[in-house]
Amino acid sequence: MNQTPAFFRQPYPLSPDTAMSTSETLYCYHCGRHHPREEMRQIETKSGKKWRCIKSIQATRRSSAQRDAFGKTVTTINRAENQTRIKARLDAERLVAGSSGSV
Ligand SMILES: [Zn+2]
Repeated sequence: MNQTPAFFRQPYPLSPDTAMSTSETLYCYHCGRHHPREEMRQIETKSGKKWRCIKSIQATRRSSAQRDAFGKTVTTINRAENQTRIKARLDAERLVAGSSGSV
């Protein structure tokens, strides 16, 4: 059971003793640095299998989910605005056509 607070943990062991007892570090192609093996995931890329840290994977997933949600909201708003504008324009044209016809 590890009760060490997250902010207290080092990205990787700094003391030689800890480095000896823990498993090796792996190169994270995303961060361009080494992380402990237990924080890494091997993923398939176009150029083969690479190691990437879980933190960066989760960060990317989270930001892309937010971007998707944001994109959907904007699209919905745009669509609603367009429909309102089109409807207003049609109504205006109908009014103009109607008034010009009656004169
Ligand atoms: Zn990383």
